[in-house]
Amino acid sequence: MSSTRAAGAAPALAQRSELFSTSGTARARAAAKAAAASGQEIIDLSAGEIWADFPDAVREGALAAITKGVSRYTDTIGLLPLRAAIAQRLSEDSGQRWEAEEIAVTAGAKQALFNTAMLLFDPGSEVIIPRPYWTTFPAQVALAGAKPVFVDSAASGYVPRPDLIEACLSARTRAIIINTPNNPTGAVYDRSCLRGLAEIALKHRLWIILDSCYAGFIHEPGGAEHLLAVVPEVRPLTVVVNAFSKQLAMTGWRLGYMAAPARLVGAVKALQSHTTSNPNVIAQHAVLNYLRQGDRAYERELQDLLLENRRQGLEILSRLEQVRAARAQGGFYFYLDVSPLLTVKGSRFQDAEAVAAQLLTSTGVATVPGSAFGDLSGLRLSYGLPTDDLKRALTRVVTALNAIGRSPALLRAAQ
Ligand code: PLP
Repeated sequence: MSSTRAAGAAPALAQRSELFSTSGTARARAAAKAAAASGQEIIDLSAGEIWADFPDAVREGALAAITKGVSRYTDTIGLLPLRAAIAQRLSEDSGQRWEAEEIAVTAGAKQALFNTAMLLFDPGSEVIIPRPYWTTFPAQVALAGAKPVFVDSAASGYVPRPDLIEACLSARTRAIIINTPNNPTGAVYDRSCLRGLAEIALKHRLWIILDSCYAGFIHEPGGAEHLLAVVPEVRPLTVVVNAFSKQLAMTGWRLGYMAAPARLVGAVKALQSHTTSNPNVIAQHAVLNYLRQGDRAYERELQDLLLENRRQGLEILSRLEQVRAARAQGGFYFYLDVSPLLTVKGSRFQDAEAVAAQLLTSTGVATVPGSAFGDLSGLRLSYGLPTDDLKRALTRVVTALNAIGRSPALLRAAQ
């Protein structure tokens, strides 16, 4: 057999490998780590996780399972009692009754979203994603051979406008991916937005993929309404994705779930049987123990910590002169629009990536530039860290951004 490959050259990777690169958030975290390793004192506002310790009930559940010698495969989509406990909890949160057969337990929300992309999108399908978006949504859509269609939400306070979404539909549109409370913007979609989106889905027979990973963190009075409580009829078209990663401050344990029509859950079971099999068994027992206690005291405490961080953080950010901070209604991210610094006469900053790099070198504060979220003028700052560190970091950020805004040319001369 003749070959055109150079002798010794490795065969090419699949074309699929070119559809995505390391996520922008992971890159930002790596930059923060590299700066810290070089000896710089870094306050890291780039992480997508909360510094708090995870619940005792999770620890106890894990230790008990290990002591009992639990070590075998479970059902591919999770232990039945865990699926039942998740169904019970989702029933409380969504105002709809859920059964275990509608729940699949996954290795974090990421796997739930990946399953969804693989099972709902065909090559050539179009999928609506409000922008700024969480960095993994378009990557997974592309992996499924489908096409992300972005609809900008900045002009409406980062809450997408249903009429703009409807204007982007085509015969190929298969789904709308929404994430509320939103990463990166902190926006919480209001009732009229949810109603509008559900009506579009019903009218055009589209799936709604609802990523509610931050649903436990709502910071404005009145709370947030669940899509399915607002429009129950949209349930057969909805996939709810969630995880314990953020809610119980246990990102590394990798436990999430999806709630969907039983037919889709059946397909997920088959898919996971060929990909990862069951999620880690110890993590499953750990979370089951937590859910069985039925007491949300830990979550309330975490919410209170974040609420206080948000309050103090917004107070510091209110001193920003040119840059605008979003309301941070939910989740644990502040989101800044730095476009006034990019457009001011004499600015040497082309985009938020340059601003983030400047902040890292001049203030030692690591942030995530909006390029990770499809927004060249955004900057995401996590407030899921100890209050004193947060205050110190934000004070430095405000001083630096105000200085840039006041005299960008001077800053250039000083470089
Ligand atoms: N969805 C959103 C909106 C996220 O921000 C994240 C993590 O940052 C995930 C899903 C993934 O969560 P997990 O770590 O449970 O896979």
